[in-house]
Amino acid sequence: MNQKIKIIAIFFLGLFISFNMIEMSHAVKIDIINSNTGGDVTKNKLIKKYIPKTNITNQVVEAAKKGTPMVTFGNGKGPRVLIVAGVHGNELPSQIAAVKLINYLQGKKIRGTVYIIPFAIPSNTAKTKRYWKGRSPNAIAQYSGTPTNKIVKLAKKLKIDAMGDFHCTRPIGYPGKSAILYTKYPEYQSYKMAKYMSKKSKSALKGYKKAGFYFKGALEDVCNLNGVPSVTAEALSWHGTVKKGSVTKSFSQMNALLKYKKVI
Ligand SMILES: [Zn+2]
Repeated sequence: MNQKIKIIAIFFLGLFISFNMIEMSHAVKIDIINSNTGGDVTKNKLIKKYIPKTNITNQVVEAAKKGTPMVTFGNGKGPRVLIVAGVHGNELPSQIAAVKLINYLQGKKIRGTVYIIPFAIPSNTAKTKRYWKGRSPNAIAQYSGTPTNKIVKLAKKLKIDAMGDFHCTRPIGYPGKSAILYTKYPEYQSYKMAKYMSKKSKSALKGYKKAGFYFKGALEDVCNLNGVPSVTAEALSWHGTVKKGSVTKSFSQMNALLKYKKVI
């Protein structure tokens, strides 16, 4: 009898150790890249409802209370892809898709490094708020100290090869439909990325000749002007809502960017 208990105890001890090892191998790096933006994103009821209920999600949510969280998969080697969501805190599907992508990549073998910023301004996401100090964060990326400018500087520092900024568009807004936006100059890669992502994710393709002209201060434009090839992706959903299929659309746009760089 005693022997039996011993065997059972050893069995469970072994099980406990192996579970912990699995947990360790799935450990990911989360950094706070801006400490002026912290907020509890689960105060946003739709974010709370749709984000996967997992350990990694909890870690990201906890980190977001302190500032803008960035999750890193990989050791910094190329290709290096940066995925950003939540520049507009009231555009919810892309932020949910980014958390889903974090869960999807956890424990997955990748080639290169993927950086994901699921909530660019958690304090805005918590309140379904769009503006930063009275202005669209996607119009002030050229100004030092803004949340979007911090992302531009970080993208340069990390030598990002491809950046995708993921938004949601209202049917009456611009572009008014799921789409990938690019500029051909000065980063022609922006166009090539957008073309591939548009086809792969069945999104419209919309482009401009020159960065910083039509959308001065957009994260995409300022990144392109700073030598980081970038696109903006838009999934169709009214602001502050999660339209059926919109999370899947945004996720497939993110997935297409990773596939373009052959990361997955
Ligand atoms: Zn937006």
